[in-house]
Order: sequence, then C-alpha cells, then structure tokens
Amino acid sequence: MKTLILHHDDCLRHDPGRRHVEGPARVTAVLNGVKNISGTEILPAPRATLEQLLLAHAPEYWERLAELEPAREPGNERVALDPDTFLSAGSIDATLRGSGAACFAIDQVFCGKAKNAFCATRPPGHHADATTAMGFCLLNHAAVAARHAQLAHGVSRVAILDFDVHHGNGTQAIFEASPDVLYISSHQMPLYPGTGYPDETGAGNILNLPLPPGAGSAEFRSAWSGYGLPELERFGPELVIVSAGFDAHLLDPLGQLELQDEDYGWITTEICAIAESGCGGRVVSILEGGYDLDALASASAAHVRALTG
Ligand SMILES: [Zn+2]
Repeated sequence: MKTLILHHDDCLRHDPGRRHVEGPARVTAVLNGVKNISGTEILPAPRATLEQLLLAHAPEYWERLAELEPAREPGNERVALDPDTFLSAGSIDATLRGSGAACFAIDQVFCGKAKNAFCATRPPGHHADATTAMGFCLLNHAAVAARHAQLAHGVSRVAILDFDVHHGNGTQAIFEASPDVLYISSHQMPLYPGTGYPDETGAGNILNLPLPPGAGSAEFRSAWSGYGLPELERFGPELVIVSAGFDAHLLDPLGQLELQDEDYGWITTEICAIAESGCGGRVVSILEGGYDLDALASASAAHVRALTG
C-alpha cells in the first residue's frame, strides 16, 4: 500500500505578505522534496466540511473568520488577527484544504486504501485553539482530524505527536481535558508561544518534552526514546497523528534547535514501528512549521521516505 501525499493549489493562495516567513513557497519546496519518492501517490486535498471543522472549533470563531476574510484577490488586502497571523483572500479555502486533507487521509487509512499519509498543506494549525487564531494558524488540522477519526471511525484513543520547534499550545488546549487523546510535544524552550512546561499535564494525557536552545540530535532522540515513545506505546493508540513541523532543523531561522534530516527520518521510523505493532500502521502526518526552504524540502523528504518504509 502507498503513502498518500495530500495537496491542493488553494494552499498557495493564503497570502500573509511577501516578507512573511510562512509563504506559499513552503509547500512548493515540500512538494519538490517529496514528489519523486517511490511508494507515494499525490492526491488533491478536499475542503473540510463545516461539520468537520466544528468538531474542534467554536461556531462563532468560524463565522468571524469567514466574515473577516478579504473578498477579492488582487488588492492584497489583509486582515491581521494578531501581529503575525493574517487573513487574505483565499485564506479560508487554504485552511479548509488543510483540515480536509487530514480528514480525508484518515478515511483513506481506515478504509485500507493507504498505508499512511502526509498532508502537504498550509497554513499550519497547531497554535490555533477552539476560538483563537495565532502563530500563523487558523484551523487546528490535527485536532479536527483526531475528532473526525473518533466520530467517523469509532476510534477511542488517538495520539498526536508534535515535533515542531514550537509548542502546540492550541492542540494542548483543545485536548487538555480529554484523556482519549494523548498529546506529546518536543519543542524548544524558551520560545514562542511560551507554553509547554513539563508540569502542564492536562488530564494526564499531555506530555511536554522541552529542549534548550542549542539541543540537537542526541537530546531530541533521548527525549523521545526515554519518554515520548514509551508513553505512546503505553497509551496504545488506534491512530497516530503527527504534527510534523520541520523548524527544529539546524538551518531554520525561527528556532535554535539543531536537528538534521536524519533525525526526522529516525523519529518517523520509530513512530511507524509503534503504530505498526499497535494500530495497523495508521499514521497521518500534517505539515506544521519549517521556514528554511532547503531544509524544509530535505527534512520532509526524509520524513516521507520513512513513512513509505
Ligand atoms: Zn513551528
């Protein structure tokens, strides 16, 4: 079976401004990195339905976003939702493709049409909570996907693993009272958004693994081998969702961690091995951050290569 790669050109239309690091060139770089990996198939990402996105977001929040979206494409008008999170014409479609890709990927994996999947979509999602856009994120795709899996496929336990350099405060906030979803994050601390301390444990379902600036392969691997992966195994998920940010890479301009491409291959292989033995290999990965285009291409390629096994 194949590893699906989900994408849609609508993801290029979200335009936070020419100087913004979270630009459309990111997904182009990712697609260039992963397009020729054997064992993959690229499919168009559908839009999430209203019912799907409301699984993780408040209806008033979504209505406000839809109202604020600038109407027309030339003109480049943008609405600032916070100092670094913007809505342009096309943003709503772009973020709907992100959540839709993740839900579709889950359907494909559960009906046996795909081995696993990677959603090459933007804007990212893990900073958005039920009612707030922040940190470049509008909809929390991992959260929507986890709830979709529970509702549509009768899954009870879902694990979300997040190795983006930033803590996924939105994902944590959405699930901190939900013991049916395990959230494990490795991230740099101190760093935006300022959450992710080890004592933030939710209902016993949150595991934060902060790493100091300058930490690299050894510290990353030992945090996951020593704490993250054993906790994943103990939890026994029926589905693993990965918030795959590549901004902990040595070359990334937003963080000071020093991961290399091989570390992304390593963590992916470890996650897939646990998923293989516990939940039929069901892994759905979603692009989060990653802002050095060359590193993004090579690290996402290492990630997808490991997904193909
Ligand atoms: Zn990030």
